[in-house]
Amino acid sequence: MSLSGVMKKCIISTFTVALLTSFYAQTKINKDIELFVMNNLESIIEAQENKLGIDHKGSPRIIFGYPDGYTAHDGSGFYHDPTDTIYLPKGLAITPESNLSNKLAEILSFGRAYDILDILDHELGHFYIDKIKESKSENKWDVPVTYDQKQARSVVCEGVAEYFKITLNNIETNLSENYSMPTDCFELTTFDIYVGGYHLVKPIIDLYGSAAIHYFIDNPPNSVKDLKLYQNKALNALSSK
Ligand SMILES: [Zn+2]
Repeated sequence: MSLSGVMKKCIISTFTVALLTSFYAQTKINKDIELFVMNNLESIIEAQENKLGIDHKGSPRIIFGYPDGYTAHDGSGFYHDPTDTIYLPKGLAITPESNLSNKLAEILSFGRAYDILDILDHELGHFYIDKIKESKSENKWDVPVTYDQKQARSVVCEGVAEYFKITLNNIETNLSENYSMPTDCFELTTFDIYVGGYHLVKPIIDLYGSAAIHYFIDNPPNSVKDLKLYQNKALNALSSK
């Protein structure tokens, strides 16, 4: 065999070994993530109840991977209201445990592995909101008629889910002093909806806990341009209860 033939064989062998190793690692990571979630779901729910002073109504179904036809950003979860199901991403994720899978995920993702507990805490926020909606005789939330209403509700809804994640996991999220939420619904970015949303609902939930979330569901926001006003209105309404 010529020298280039030997080199070619060597490259193919190295590539095959790397591929098999990464396949093995991903399979192991997926298995350990599933085990962590299924073994700890009840205690994660309990931790939310204790820290946030709320009562969850039961627990959601958990599925790993996304439903057919659903595309999501890598490392994000998805809550499906009609079936009370949390879909968790497969991939390079870590848990709070110290084990080989977490080390492999960190190495293979170059330190950018996503934290499955963060994702689960966020999605449990959506589960909590869904159960509150179901407890109401009238669902005022899920009947948006304009894009503006839909976006304003996304800010509050994702803000609440982020509140669950950030509070449970002691995550720092400071907003720059110059930050202000866009008033045009077409200008909202993912940052505005998630981080901006969190800062919008935080002072209200800090003070009123579950009552704040009930207030949001009973009084859905109608426009992105009025969100600051909406925050003040919520604080005033809840303070006089
Ligand atoms: Zn969400």
